[in-house]
Amino acid sequence: MRLTGKTALVTGSSQGIGEAVALRLAADGADVVIHYRSHPESAQDVVKRIATLGRRAVAIQADLSRAAEAQRLIADGVTRLGPLDILVNNAGVEKHADFWDVSEGDYDFVMDVNLKGVFFTTQTFVRHLLATKRPGKIINMSSVHEELPFPRFTPYSMSKGGLKMMTRTLAIELAPFGITVNSIAPGAIETPINRTLLNNPEKLRALLDNIPLKRMGTPVDIAGVAAFLASGDADYITGATIVADGGLLWNYDEQ
Ligand code: NAD
Repeated sequence: MRLTGKTALVTGSSQGIGEAVALRLAADGADVVIHYRSHPESAQDVVKRIATLGRRAVAIQADLSRAAEAQRLIADGVTRLGPLDILVNNAGVEKHADFWDVSEGDYDFVMDVNLKGVFFTTQTFVRHLLATKRPGKIINMSSVHEELPFPRFTPYSMSKGGLKMMTRTLAIELAPFGITVNSIAPGAIETPINRTLLNNPEKLRALLDNIPLKRMGTPVDIAGVAAFLASGDADYITGATIVADGGLLWNYDEQ
């Protein structure tokens, strides 16, 4: 198995895309730190499913909008599972509002989780790799909205655009240490973040009309990409964004 002997931390892995990524990394041979913010039962369930795959897993709570919590998460993960090799920055949030109605609190909420949280989790992970003189892989869960405008989700789009530049910049700065940094840009994936959309048949139909493959993605569609980027098969890839969106981002057709 291509991840045997590796240990990964996947943020936001008690549900949605993060859960599927954690399970797939374990299926490929990795031990996994499951991180959650507010659902300990779901996190424990993922830990149990990983144990049935014959891998080790622990669940750790942290609010990643605070740097100190990100630092504690990495330290606890290392204490409980040993040195980490792979970090998947998956946790992320969005808020729907017209631009003129966005509150300072909602702006900070999105930026603090999607950018500041990723920044300080990554910084702590990199310090750990440098201190233990080991290479590593960083995978950021971005979005097609690192490129594609998303009206009424301006802070979200800004955060993913910022994440794109973090990926590219760190890829260069960390290359001398054997640390690769890449992003995945999912399109529309069936997870709790899209609950409102999934419950609105009209909006869902309009969305599917824009997706050449005519279906939403599943968390498993994204997990396979993360497993590839975490593996030796991706050793020569850094600073890249892999788009997994059924063709949504560059959809254009003149009939
Ligand atoms: P989700 O809502 O199921 O998962 C989000 C995760 O982030 C949850 O596990 C949650 O606990 C965690 N989180 C939220 N606030 C946190 C905080 N303060 N501290 C720590 N963790 C926190 O949604 P998802 O669709 O699985 O999203 C996962 C990632 O994929 C996000 O970064 C999202 O932006 C990205 N994404 C999702 C889609 C999609 O269509 N579902 C598309 C593109 C990108």
